[in-house]
Amino acid sequence: MLTAKEKSGASVAALVRESYREISLYSAPRGPFSVDLSDNTNLWGAPPAALRAVAAVRQEDVTRYPVAYEPALAAALADYVGVSADMIACGCGSDDVLDSAIRAFAEPGEVLCLPDPSFSMIGVFARANGLSPVSIPLTRSFDVDVDAMLETGARITYICTPNNPTGGAVPRKLVERIVDRARGLVIIDQAYVEFGGDNYIDLAASGRPVLVTRTMSKAFGLAGLRVGYGIGSPELIGEVLKARGPYKVSALSERAAITALESDRGWVADHVNQAIANRSKFRTELAKRGMVSLESSANFVLVPVPDCAVVSRRLERAGIRVRALPGLTGIGDAIRIAIGPWEMMQRCLDALVAAT
Ligand code: PMP
Repeated sequence: MLTAKEKSGASVAALVRESYREISLYSAPRGPFSVDLSDNTNLWGAPPAALRAVAAVRQEDVTRYPVAYEPALAAALADYVGVSADMIACGCGSDDVLDSAIRAFAEPGEVLCLPDPSFSMIGVFARANGLSPVSIPLTRSFDVDVDAMLETGARITYICTPNNPTGGAVPRKLVERIVDRARGLVIIDQAYVEFGGDNYIDLAASGRPVLVTRTMSKAFGLAGLRVGYGIGSPELIGEVLKARGPYKVSALSERAAITALESDRGWVADHVNQAIANRSKFRTELAKRGMVSLESSANFVLVPVPDCAVVSRRLERAGIRVRALPGLTGIGDAIRIAIGPWEMMQRCLDALVAAT
């Protein structure tokens, strides 16, 4: 018989396996991979001024609490996106903002509707908050199925543009139709917006129940510092912050993020441009080798393959890590490959030829 400790250990492991597939992947120890293209972070590195801010850590950053609800970071982000600071809710990654918004705007038992495939953590956050996630398959052209999503009458409608893991941007007219007709909150996840697709700050600022979420984990290269944010009307943001609670961004992360927003925008723009150029070149090179990838507006591409477990295992043996996605709705098995410096992409191409 299991002891209480073993029991809880077993159930935590099961929870991680079943529901927290994505989290366990984030936190899996980095193996002996010389090229890790699995998590869509900035593969050129961290922005230099932010890195200097981290290195110059002050004693009070460690000993004291940060200022509650990080007003200085909200002001810096507001300046970056062009809204007022009361329209920004920061969080421990945009994961935290998404989770808090779901808690703030729906009651247990209500429906959250999301496209399929899309960001896998949304179903986890919905279930953790007692909601029923309803997944609506993308259309054959990999667009959101607006009518089917609206028919669910969901309390929260989630869309992601550019979408993870397909990479496609949702056309503006579809986003507007969802915002016009949805019954409750519409969340527009724009974690990858710097790399392409339309910007929906105008909808977040329209006074309607729209929350745009963004992150400093991708283009800004600060995933380890865990800084994300949401943009919406001041009333909506107030509700997100109430559900979130104080002290979710550490003082050090806050200072590094502000420094990046003030001093590293040029560095970020330069590497975003390189990612966009390499994305296009990588897709062309894949096609030359007979591999079709989905159109992407993000810093990754999705490549359907016959057996993603086999392909990713072979790539791992070559020191290359990608994200294996088995049985995606309407797509089948696929691998998701983040875009980085060309040397990494070339190594991935060479290994892919041998692995497929
Ligand atoms: N949204 C999408 C679409 C993502 O892909 C991710 C991370 N993979 C997140 C949100 C969460 O990122 P973070 O918590 O680092 O801001």
